[in-house]
Amino acid sequence: MKQIIPGLWDIDEIGDAVHCYLWEWDGGVTLIDTGMPSHARTILDALMHNNYPLHTVTRVIVTHSDLDHAGGLAKIRRATGASVVCHAVEKELLEHPNRRLLGSALLRASMTLLSPLPAFHQTPVIPQELVVDGDTLPEGFTVIHTPGHTPGHIALLHREKRLLIAGDALANRGGKLQGPASLFTPDGKNAQRSIWKLAKKYGDDYETIVFGHGPAILSNGGKRVKALASQVFAAEI
Ligand SMILES: [Zn+2]
Repeated sequence: MKQIIPGLWDIDEIGDAVHCYLWEWDGGVTLIDTGMPSHARTILDALMHNNYPLHTVTRVIVTHSDLDHAGGLAKIRRATGASVVCHAVEKELLEHPNRRLLGSALLRASMTLLSPLPAFHQTPVIPQELVVDGDTLPEGFTVIHTPGHTPGHIALLHREKRLLIAGDALANRGGKLQGPASLFTPDGKNAQRSIWKLAKKYGDDYETIVFGHGPAILSNGGKRVKALASQVFAAEI
């Protein structure tokens, strides 16, 4: 595991195609996202090797229900007994992953064909705790509803640590800050509004950003998201 800032670890044992994180706080350990189905075992092993016995993982916060973020969830929840936390609107997709809309009908058809294969099979999970925009979590995070990529996507802001966990509301693929991949984003307009929200409403509140995809930004994160938002909306006019 790689420490990003004190308290936040990237579980990099799963590689760098997708990131999931461990957050250490007074109440124990919280995971943020769980990788692909095949990553569950690796994540559980990484926890044990790094002295986080599985029962210390009390909560798993899911930024959104996609296969690469919630694929490992069912297994990790079974192994740890953790409570699963997601946005109220995302609950339906965690419980019925096949209802996920994608940016193209062709892609959706392909995913339906692939879904019986173990690598792509997402076991439904019923979340225990539903959150909405503005909620404050015991870990110290403020929930920011950032729909577009999925309807109940959330980012997490820790004001004291000046940290934004962006999920897929933003990406930093190849070190280029951008919005989520359009093929996997059925509501591009809302995804843009979510970038605007992260810039306009919260842009002064964070320096560090971690992503579902791409390396962390360690400084000037808020400024960079503000610059991205003005580019996105300038292109619109
Ligand atoms: Zn993703």
